[in-house]
Amino acid sequence: MSTSLQTPIDYLKGVGPSRADLLRKELGIHTYQDLLNLFPNRYLDRTKYFKINELQANNAEVQIIGKIIKFEEIAQKRGKRLVATFKDDTGVIELVWFRGQKWIKDALKLNTEYVVFGKTNYYNGKFSIPHPDTELLSEHEQNLRSSMQAIYPSTEKLSNRGITNRVMTKIMQNLFLETKGRFAESLSENLLSDLKLISKSEAIFNIHFPKDSDLLFKAQYRLKFEELFYIQLQLILKNLIHKSKIKGFPFDTVGEHFNTFFKHHLPFELTNAQKRVLKEIRADLGSNAQMNRLLQGDVGSGKTIVALMSMLMALDNGFQACLMAPTEILSVQHYNGLKELCKNLNISIQLLTGSSKTSKRRKIHEALENGELDILIGTHAVLEDKVEFKNLGLAIIDEQHRFGVEQRSKLWKKNTSPPHVLVMTATPIPRTLAMSVYGDLDISIIDELPPGRKAIKTVHRYDTNRLKVLRFIRDEIKKGRQVYIVYPLIQESANMDYKDLMDGYESIARDFPMPDYQISIVHGQMKPVDKEFEMQRFVKGETNIMVATTVIEVGVNVPNASVMIIESAERFGLSQLHQLRGRVGRGAEQSFCILMTSQKLSENSKTRIQTMVSTNDGFEIAEVDLRLRGPGDIMGTQQSGILNLRIADIVKDNDILQHARYHAKQILTKDPRLTNPDHAAILETYRQMAKYKNIWNYIS
Ligand code: ADP
Ligand code: MG
Repeated sequence: MSTSLQTPIDYLKGVGPSRADLLRKELGIHTYQDLLNLFPNRYLDRTKYFKINELQANNAEVQIIGKIIKFEEIAQKRGKRLVATFKDDTGVIELVWFRGQKWIKDALKLNTEYVVFGKTNYYNGKFSIPHPDTELLSEHEQNLRSSMQAIYPSTEKLSNRGITNRVMTKIMQNLFLETKGRFAESLSENLLSDLKLISKSEAIFNIHFPKDSDLLFKAQYRLKFEELFYIQLQLILKNLIHKSKIKGFPFDTVGEHFNTFFKHHLPFELTNAQKRVLKEIRADLGSNAQMNRLLQGDVGSGKTIVALMSMLMALDNGFQACLMAPTEILSVQHYNGLKELCKNLNISIQLLTGSSKTSKRRKIHEALENGELDILIGTHAVLEDKVEFKNLGLAIIDEQHRFGVEQRSKLWKKNTSPPHVLVMTATPIPRTLAMSVYGDLDISIIDELPPGRKAIKTVHRYDTNRLKVLRFIRDEIKKGRQVYIVYPLIQESANMDYKDLMDGYESIARDFPMPDYQISIVHGQMKPVDKEFEMQRFVKGETNIMVATTVIEVGVNVPNASVMIIESAERFGLSQLHQLRGRVGRGAEQSFCILMTSQKLSENSKTRIQTMVSTNDGFEIAEVDLRLRGPGDIMGTQQSGILNLRIADIVKDNDILQHARYHAKQILTKDPRLTNPDHAAILETYRQMAKYKNIWNYIS
């Protein structure tokens, strides 16, 4: 009988309905294929046996041969535990079970030789092994032993219900017996030979039952490559299809507005990075395809001017443009900034936010529909159904992390043809991550700050040094500078945070009394109007100190503010710290960032603080952040599907990722439809992926 890999797991020898149910629920294993793709977490040397008197370390994984000489049930707080005394010729240890006692006791024989395997626990001068793997020595000897025994992912439920690693290994063996271990190749002959990759069947066998460490390495390499290759293939293909299918509005003229602005009203010389990025955008806008571009640039790198000049291109071609920001404050700031920049151009710009008055709204709607309005700036309000453009040619989204993909696609519905889309973010995403998550977008990077910026000096101070910090603040204020003092705000403990903030505010108010000093305070529990009022006082320079929670995180621009104090800095993530620091260093003066922490810091916090002190480079910080938190946390759950890697690791396997992307691109450039016979396996695999929406559902 030929076995399909889509066969439900229930049919496999050694599984049966109740185990099948557990495997489905606990590990998501439904079919033979899913089981094959359950890759081991790690490998252990099972050719080595310990004597009981050799046991040393707590929590070590050991394998011992011996006999159970007695069972005992011991009552404890809740229920009871089963304890077996296990003996070899050098001593005794205890095997302990907290659950499943009944069947364990029935299944295990007294005074018979077993091999037990598990993690040691040292307590009160005695070693024990909780929930060990047990196997009759006679059976154990019949099985193949490898110095690299696969250890599979497991869950508490699985081990409680007796599906130990030994059982998993046994089931896996049955799977190989039944399928004869032969699986269709999923990469092309050329790739295999060019990259010296081992075949699919060999890789799958060796990932589960490695013959030696060399083959294990080759198996891992091949499967990691395959995983990353197909993600890249999918992303690049999506981009190609997008470009060929979705026509954009070609902006072929470089017209009056752009030229006038460029020649007469540019307030500064563009940096080389800004020029390069503008060229990239112009090339996109001039092509027949719809632009879908991500613009990454650190805080203060000058993305706004790029946005404006791109919008002018749209206007010059007879289209409207819009710019969206995630908060009201930011939208207002963009509106004011752009109005100022465009004051000598003959174009109309309006602002639309949640707090726009109805009458104003109506006017804006009208002007948008009849085409009188050229540029609309706003918050999410821009996405409301009532907002309709006459001909939206370009949509720019600032700080895209806060706009979901869905919202992005809402913009599309506003037109017969989708507008060009430029997404700008100040949160640098490490290259590798960007490649995997946004591989279907085109990416531009502004990696250069405008000239004349003084690097922000960052220091770390313990709370015990507060007096010195206060003196420093006083000196800076005397020089005419303004200061931010930021407190953490973490949702779950909002009340406590609020109290911290208020306590902090009161103590600051004592140290900096009126009328010599003026202090603003802004936090989440204030009404928007009050917030705005306080912000404005600080912006106008009427207050010296702004005490705030992280509401000021994004985009606020006060060039005279040159000191950023971050309280409990250990409670902030790296990207947040970097964003906050970016609020200073915007003027001509030397700026400072002081990270205040308690004395006790975790390793992780130490790394974060040290990273902040040692570099101002957002991309470098993002790389550290990725290492510390992993891709899932950084990107949020939204895109985690694609990051749900089985075997590759975006951080550690960076090199393989680059190779995979390179080869995927090569193949698609030469053969975009994958019709070349050598690509048949790739095409088939790609189809399977699309069908099952999962990159690992494609072994056949
Ligand atoms: P961000 O990328 O954070 O949005 P902005 O566009 O707000 O940065 O620019 C930050 C500041 O730098 C602004 O005051 C802007 O006028 C100024 N700026 C931008 N580009 C240049 C440049 N090429 N030369 C000098 N100053 C610039
Ligand atoms: Mg900005």
